[in-house]
Amino acid sequence: MRLTFVHPAIGHRLGESYLRSWQMEPLPIAALKGLTPDTVETRFYDDRLEKIPYDEPTDAVVISVETYTAKRAYQIASEYRRRGVPVVMGGFHVTLMPQEASRYADAIMVGEAEGKWLELIDDLQHHTLKPFYQGIQTDLSGVKVDRSLFKGKRYLPIGLVETGRGCRFPCEFCAIQTFYQRSYRRRDPDQVLKELTKQKRSKKIFFFVDDNFAGNIHESRLWLPELAKLNIRWITQMSINAAHDESFLKELAESGCKGVLIGFESLNEENLKLMNKRFNTMKGGFSQALANLRKYGIAVYGTFVFGYDHDTEDSFSQAVTFAEREGMYIAAFNHMTPFPGTPLYKRLQQENRLRYEHWWLDDYYRYNEVPFYPTQLTPEQVTTGCVSARRDFYSWRSIFKRSWKNRNDFFMFRNFFPINALHRNEISSRNGYPLGDETWQGKLLEIQ
Ligand code: SF4
Repeated sequence: MRLTFVHPAIGHRLGESYLRSWQMEPLPIAALKGLTPDTVETRFYDDRLEKIPYDEPTDAVVISVETYTAKRAYQIASEYRRRGVPVVMGGFHVTLMPQEASRYADAIMVGEAEGKWLELIDDLQHHTLKPFYQGIQTDLSGVKVDRSLFKGKRYLPIGLVETGRGCRFPCEFCAIQTFYQRSYRRRDPDQVLKELTKQKRSKKIFFFVDDNFAGNIHESRLWLPELAKLNIRWITQMSINAAHDESFLKELAESGCKGVLIGFESLNEENLKLMNKRFNTMKGGFSQALANLRKYGIAVYGTFVFGYDHDTEDSFSQAVTFAEREGMYIAAFNHMTPFPGTPLYKRLQQENRLRYEHWWLDDYYRYNEVPFYPTQLTPEQVTTGCVSARRDFYSWRSIFKRSWKNRNDFFMFRNFFPINALHRNEISSRNGYPLGDETWQGKLLEIQ
């Protein structure tokens, strides 16, 4: 049997190549390849990097779907299904919107694939594919990552590795809590160390893609001494509570941690309360957490969202001033996004505040357009506020000013200017990006 994996792009704009910062290795594909028996012949096409050869013979197609790539995924599925090829879909969006996804796929995998993948492969081989597979939350010992399908593809030079899954916090806007039902699990450290050792020579830095690396600080710190022996550099994302634990920060730094992404989200306490994210202000709040991170030489990628109910026109410049003053390595200034299945989406729906009910499929919706009505601002004010915040933060004046606070680590300092320049180039280039391929002429093919 031949199986073709496809990773869809968010969309395609006529005459433009895909944004470089969106070209990371698609780890879910490597995880599925790792679960697939060697007897199955596999191919992989990344819609972000190459044309998909729809006419190449294959027995089935597997597409991983996120909310932003859903429309494009359904276009690709329609192309294959029109040629009589069965399509299987899985991933975050499929779990959040199973009924929608099952309109465009012969089979869907809801939840995590590890406990169900072999059954699905067996059914494909015996032509007994079922329309619905309910994944099972396993202890992650079955996670096997096989990156062989990425050979020859020009991804960003950063190694992506998963060390744990999920998060126990209940942030209103976050789909992680819905997908994993507020659970957190770690992978076996020995398996992770083996995976890192295998790639160590070819990667200058690793990104631990965990939803929250500090999901269980006690367990996380147990393997840090072993990680330190590998002598690698790595970055990750974690919740701010970990930045108040100085001994943990020290261990992170000693094990090669160079930077962390932290969701600050808002400087307004009322917004944080509404988000169910008041823990952000614990123990001396943001400034104390950032001072601790600086003390241990860990750079910060701060993320802020706008359009929450207590945001005003001043919120944007306040966030930029704060991020600049704290010397953040990089920062993101985006509108909040109501992902389907989240408490935020339900609240906005109940309050009749969604501009586009299914924004991810709406032909009139474009990337970075605010898909809901904020209370104190117009959607357009939020969009322009985000662009001007990015413009200020990635001005050369700000870049030089922040570089001074990020000069202590040679590797990070050397990369500071190229990384900031990349973000500077993309200040508004994502705005207006189509969801789906805007040149695609077909019609989405629904299951009858
Ligand atoms: S802490 Fe981060 S990962 Fe966890 S629920 Fe909140 S936003 Fe999501």
